[in-house]
Amino acid sequence: MAKKQFKAESKRLLDLMINSIYTHKEIFLREIISNSSDAIDKLYYKRLSEESEGVNRDDYRIRIAVDENAKTLTISDNGIGMSKDEMETNLGTIAQSGSFKFKKENGQNGQDNASKDAAAEDVETDGGEGKMDIDIIGQFGVGFYSAFMVSKNIRVVSRAYGSDEAYVWESKGADGYTIEPGEREEAGTDVILTLKDDTEEENYSAYLKAYQIRELVKKYSDYIRYPIIMNVEKSREKAATEEEKAAEGYKPEYEQYFEDETLNSMVPIWKRSKSDISDEDYNDFYKKKFYDFTDPARVIHTNVEGVTTYNALLFIPGKAPYNYYTKEYEKGLQLYSSGVMIMEKCADLLPDYFSFVKGLVDSQDLSLNISREMLQHDRQLKAIASRLEKKIKAELLHMLENDREKYEEFFKNFGLQLKFGLYSGYGMNKDVLQDLILLYSSSEKKLATFKEYISRMKEDQKYIYYACGETVEKLDRQPQTELLKDKGYEIFYCTDEVDEFALRMLASIDGKEFKSVSDEDLGIEESEEEKKAAEKKNEDSKEMLEALKAALDGKVSEVKVSSRLKTHPVCFASGGGLSIEMEKVLNAMPAGEKVKAEKVLEINPEHPVFEALSDTFAEWKANGGTTDSKDFGKLGDYAGLLYNQALLIEGMPVEDPVEFSNQICKLMK
Ligand code: ADP
Repeated sequence: MAKKQFKAESKRLLDLMINSIYTHKEIFLREIISNSSDAIDKLYYKRLSEESEGVNRDDYRIRIAVDENAKTLTISDNGIGMSKDEMETNLGTIAQSGSFKFKKENGQNGQDNASKDAAAEDVETDGGEGKMDIDIIGQFGVGFYSAFMVSKNIRVVSRAYGSDEAYVWESKGADGYTIEPGEREEAGTDVILTLKDDTEEENYSAYLKAYQIRELVKKYSDYIRYPIIMNVEKSREKAATEEEKAAEGYKPEYEQYFEDETLNSMVPIWKRSKSDISDEDYNDFYKKKFYDFTDPARVIHTNVEGVTTYNALLFIPGKAPYNYYTKEYEKGLQLYSSGVMIMEKCADLLPDYFSFVKGLVDSQDLSLNISREMLQHDRQLKAIASRLEKKIKAELLHMLENDREKYEEFFKNFGLQLKFGLYSGYGMNKDVLQDLILLYSSSEKKLATFKEYISRMKEDQKYIYYACGETVEKLDRQPQTELLKDKGYEIFYCTDEVDEFALRMLASIDGKEFKSVSDEDLGIEESEEEKKAAEKKNEDSKEMLEALKAALDGKVSEVKVSSRLKTHPVCFASGGGLSIEMEKVLNAMPAGEKVKAEKVLEINPEHPVFEALSDTFAEWKANGGTTDSKDFGKLGDYAGLLYNQALLIEGMPVEDPVEFSNQICKLMK
């Protein structure tokens, strides 16, 4: 029979397939199996509509058979089959492919034609650069043709339902195909692939191994609703009588035998009704599927019908994966199209701040052959992602409100990521995240939300105060917090490096602004009298303060009499936009310029040290000391000591430990 030529554009695609260096060649099996499953669906629904009884899903199956000698892999189904004409149109032209149609409907035709041409030329000129090749495999309905990536010959034997004729379609690839009459006992289709010879790079014969097929079916086609059966060789101990077994030197003998094995589990847990699924079912599924030893903290199972129909099964892990806060960790949900896995990690389904969520989405509205690039622009996917985000947030809030202990455990694992989310989004994610953040409260001695803090704010309190440092214990002793605590104000103790950055991005919550306890101006309501008294103190000591500043030679922007200190002699306040804590964090980063926060040295006028300082200053002045002379003597030592003390209190290293030690010794003499 004469050879027929493929339509021009099909031929190009075929060329691509045959010469493909696409690394995921294994998807061919998924494509063939999906076609079989579709063909069975078609027959099943056709019969349902025509016959009143006797139509049973259980009558259908997909069978995989291997012939290692002939190097053939056969996928058979008892679906609707194809007539001669259908073979011609369905297997002869790529334009028939469902995914191609899908693309047309999505209005991306012109653009895709352009990229297709470019890709085709690419292959002709230099054998395929790979990238274009992969794009085109991703973008087009590679479907049936993908089998040419691994096969040197494909035979399709098919008999259409209701017909008693069968036909054989056969092709070695780009040079055309033949259709001849054939034989088949019942309606359905066999796709017989003769695998390519092994090369140095590709081991095609691996697809003839039962374990490999089992693995591929599990990976991509586990939830095909019809059984995928393979007759596999197994080994068992040969039967022996008790007598034989008891005999001396008895060794059990083994024999090979064949047995049908159903490779797929068929009904995915997420398609089952929630009331039929126990917590244990969910937990087991999660642990097996996502390789975790710990039960998930939360399970979110939703079935949505509407413009976009999908099932989603999401898990909030009970523990952070060991690599969670590293570059190695990859976020994403598994993506299924009607039970067929199309992507292992679809990153677009999760915002970065919820990157800890594991799980999957299954939608019948997504094409099997959609490419990564197209997915990013897919409106359905965006809609799903945004609904999932809301769902995750709602679930977390629910946990926060109803199971605080568990939420705090969750926050220990993933709170840092939420705070990073606030910061890296430049405050854009505020609405999603602000209610989910917990910080340690100075007054409650436990974690608190912003809302809880605000509800406890004192009547005259204008700001939400926070202090940053290494540990809660250290922060609780920080001099800067003294006045605030005195007034009964609550303070958030922030111990993660990102905290202050995140709070600055937030700027305010419900109209209440954040304020660092180290801020030069604490924004505390003062009476006119108090204000005047403070001003007077500064005025009275003005000369001394200036001398101290000069003695510190540019290390501080100002020396002030403090109104926030109660028992401690000194502390720093932050003058400019950059706080001292932020300076520490930024300077600890391996790359980037070193920064310097503006430091204001505050001295407690009520502290005995202040008196000693005043006396020293008077003495220095009486001896003719001036700020221009650069000779500060004992006053200079005092200034240095106070400055270094303030550094130590901030948890920063003393700039010159030897000098510091000398100053102390001088003092002790
Ligand atoms: P798609 O599956 O995206 O439509 P394919 O290239 O995989 O594209 O298949 C083309 C067409 O060939 C299918 O739409 C279907 O009509 C037909 N076909 C493929 N495999 C089978 C099968 N096992 N039984 C019946 N028809 C099939």
